Amino acid sequence: MNLILLGAPGAGKGTQAEVICQAKGIPAISTGNMLREAVKNGTPSGLAAKGYMDKGELVPDDVVIGILKDRIAEEDCKNGFILDGFPRTVPQAEALDRMGVTIDKVIEIYVPDETIAKRLGGRRVCEGCGASYHLDYKPTRVEGVCDSCGSRTVIRKDDEPATVLDRLKVYHEKTAPLKDFYFAQGKLVTVIGQEEVQKTSELTLAALDD
Ligand code: AMP
Repeated sequence: MNLILLGAPGAGKGTQAEVICQAKGIPAISTGNMLREAVKNGTPSGLAAKGYMDKGELVPDDVVIGILKDRIAEEDCKNGFILDGFPRTVPQAEALDRMGVTIDKVIEIYVPDETIAKRLGGRRVCEGCGASYHLDYKPTRVEGVCDSCGSRTVIRKDDEPATVLDRLKVYHEKTAPLKDFYFAQGKLVTVIGQEEVQKTSELTLAALDD
């Protein structure tokens, strides 16, 4: 089963990707996490991506497509995968088609922009393993320390308020057209993001069986 999670930054794609990963036993692949890792390690892709990411802009398609292609060729993806944050443009979706990847379902998690802006302010990520937390909705057991690996949790540079507005603009201009792209193929299911994560998870899992 190959799935795509679509939605604005901060809609909860990463959290729901983990929920599906647990429920279905297929890996969740976040191009954002992979790019942050590449930046941290100073790889050529990371160096190419950093400036765009800090400003909340999209990294050029060829850089991201290259990273994604290598990742889905790995052994753990052979029974399927969940894409979180990819594709983000119509050319990226077309690249997936050209790779011969069949997408079974696209789940859009819809959250209004005002709610997004509020949510991202409380988001924290682990500098070690990239795990995502939220001060109100998903706090770490010990403040500022990752539950999984014990590294520090920090605010992402692109979660700062001015950058969040830019990212929302980019989402509406470049990524939202993918809804029409996949609706036309009969693959789009929309889940309304709920205040309680648990409820969104129930709706997301139900959407998989739709
Ligand atoms: P995310 O963690 O998914 O919000 O991604 C963080 C940042 O990484 C984005 O603001 C982009 O700069 C970059 N990024 C992640 N995925 C993609 C993608 N599929 N295409 C272009 N840029 C991406």
